[in-house]
Amino acid sequence: MKIVVLLGPPGSGKGTLAASLSEHLRLAVFVIGDALRAAIDAGSKLGLKVKSAVEAGRLVDDETILALAREFLRTHPEGVLLDGFPRTIRQAEGLRSLLSAEDDLHVIYLDASEETVTSRLSSRRVCPGCGEIYNMRFRPPKNDGVCDNCGVTLIRRKDDTEEVIRERYRVYLRETAPLVDYFADGLIRVDGNLSGDKALESVRGELCPA
Ligand SMILES: [Zn+2]
Repeated sequence: MKIVVLLGPPGSGKGTLAASLSEHLRLAVFVIGDALRAAIDAGSKLGLKVKSAVEAGRLVDDETILALAREFLRTHPEGVLLDGFPRTIRQAEGLRSLLSAEDDLHVIYLDASEETVTSRLSSRRVCPGCGEIYNMRFRPPKNDGVCDNCGVTLIRRKDDTEEVIRERYRVYLRETAPLVDYFADGLIRVDGNLSGDKALESVRGELCPA
């Protein structure tokens, strides 16, 4: 099966690329945050472990994350796109151990500097009405500060402040950036400064040879 891993710092455009690629390649997307919430909602044994970690403010351990990924791979044999997993070298080793020789692994690295992601995320605004996401620099609403769809005043999310963004970037550098070397062989590097369309264009050719 085809397995595509998306690597890159928060704000590098992984979510946008995941959405367009999954449609294009017809792959199911594994978003770690969604998987954790779904496990909690399902109330399974794993879900209870996730819940207690989240409630205690701890990171969910690699073993639990891997178990969720394993289940997703098992239930989506058509191929998957992984967004936000693996996040550590241990998780990457775990992922490799789940794959067999016939599996076709691709790793896309969205390369974006701290300055790029800080400026992008700190100018992000969200519509509390419909959830539409804007960027005051790159994709502003037509009318100042209100949503194009529903006219509601846009807000900035609590975790989109510069301080929080820089801290998340530091965590990324420490825990996740080493995966770029780990997957160096055959890594597809994409300029994280590109727009969503251009980023899709640049990986499409490599993922779907004619
Ligand atoms: Zn709206």
